[in-house]
Amino acid sequence: MQIPAAPKVIIRSCREYDPEKIRRILREGLEELGLRPFGRTLVKPNLVAAGDMFPHAFTRPEFGEGMLRALKDVGSGSMSELAAGERCGITVPTRLAFRESGWDDVIAKVGGVKRYCFEESEQVEIPLRHEGRLRDYLFTPEPVARADFFVNAPKFKAHPWTTVTFSIKAYIGIQDDRHRLIDHDHKLNEKIGDLQFIVQPQFIAIDAITAGEGRMLTPTPFDLGLIIMGNSQVAFDSVCCRIIGLDPRTVEHIRIAEDYGFGTSDADKIEITGDVTLAEAQQRAKGFRVGLIRVEKYFEGTHITAYAGPPPEPEHSDYCWGGCPGAIEEAIEILRVYDAQTDAKLPHMHVVFGNYDGPIPAKPGEKVIFIGDCAQWKGELAGKPVQIRSIYRDREHLDPHTIRHEDIFKKMAVTTKQIVDNRAEPAVRLEGCPVSVAEQVLALVSLGGLKNPYTDRRNIGQFLRGYLGWRGRVALNRLQRKRYQQNGAFGRRGEAAPQLKAAKTAT
Ligand code: SF4
Repeated sequence: MQIPAAPKVIIRSCREYDPEKIRRILREGLEELGLRPFGRTLVKPNLVAAGDMFPHAFTRPEFGEGMLRALKDVGSGSMSELAAGERCGITVPTRLAFRESGWDDVIAKVGGVKRYCFEESEQVEIPLRHEGRLRDYLFTPEPVARADFFVNAPKFKAHPWTTVTFSIKAYIGIQDDRHRLIDHDHKLNEKIGDLQFIVQPQFIAIDAITAGEGRMLTPTPFDLGLIIMGNSQVAFDSVCCRIIGLDPRTVEHIRIAEDYGFGTSDADKIEITGDVTLAEAQQRAKGFRVGLIRVEKYFEGTHITAYAGPPPEPEHSDYCWGGCPGAIEEAIEILRVYDAQTDAKLPHMHVVFGNYDGPIPAKPGEKVIFIGDCAQWKGELAGKPVQIRSIYRDREHLDPHTIRHEDIFKKMAVTTKQIVDNRAEPAVRLEGCPVSVAEQVLALVSLGGLKNPYTDRRNIGQFLRGYLGWRGRVALNRLQRKRYQQNGAFGRRGEAAPQLKAAKTAT
């Protein structure tokens, strides 16, 4: 897709989640931008965490309804398929996020809309050729790879490790779990840059009616009362940054996407229209809290004392913004939602990341947890010398072709065993790069005797149903692929299996 040479961003006022009003605003936005959806049209909301427990983390269903109806209004007759697709926070089945968020109801209500849970789709290989890429190819779900008209419909939020999550950052949701975790480390911003080469949205519309400030999964609601639309990803994110008083070039993933040619952040080259001026939008956003939060600062005043040394390639960064330290911030946010007593219940403990070279003043009985393959430290704990060596291996050893899915129940068993086996030791190491949010949740559950969100009685039934549906679908894909491979590239009736049109696929 061509990046528009004259990008436009439209700022519209919308104070309430009224689907009909949202529909009108989005329809007018499509018309003003001269866009008509066609072929396979795919809407990607941000459903990273959804439902009553995470009320401000996701693109609201009323926004989804307005979007789907507006696309039908404008694209009727030219779309061969209208679909909504997403991969929510990993380990949680996306079918659960669609249900909990209310998007399933909206899809049924609007009618004629397909739903894609990206971790259940065939994965298509996308070759990369640009200079500075992390790898030569990556995988994305078939509905994304084959979309003719791609619509990004994110939520307007702050993000403690990437500063903001607007349109560009939302691309982390266009990969399944095992591919998403590759390079989700100190090179996360570069990974987000590489993902831009898969597809560019023709239409972007962000749910900034109630924005989320401060945190990412449990943000504080901030009534911004805006719908912002655009046709160029970098220009769009740049205007969103300016609304909250940020220089877009200071947000690394935006800077990288611009340097790769995905649009401009130059204010003089972006046309801004709408019924709210940039100055008025800035006025509405006054006081919006945003900013990177290091793990040491994040846990100040709690029972957890954090220490972070540099990750590998310290010349690149002195902190792993995309990996284990951020994952523990998300883990504790999830635990607090499920158990209000989380902070009080947790025993005093110390968590260490990267190549940390400093004291760890752990008192007798206080556990020290070294998190991640790159953690290393030498010193004394409980009167005994301790040496933790880095077991980090360069990213080249990970092959997206062969990387395997790690099952949540296996993770649960392994992490719990690790903690139990080391109960008497002053230190324990959690291996992985990154150690995922799920693993850190489970480690904290074991150490603190906290409620396990995965077995919480309020959701266990739905979780299991979603999980079984997901794994069943993937198993079925595998069977179908085998059958088609045995029968050649074409099925018995001479029709190509739609999910096999890609040159190379994997499940
Ligand atoms: S092990 Fe964790 S902290 Fe170290 S580089 Fe990997 S993701 Fe970052």
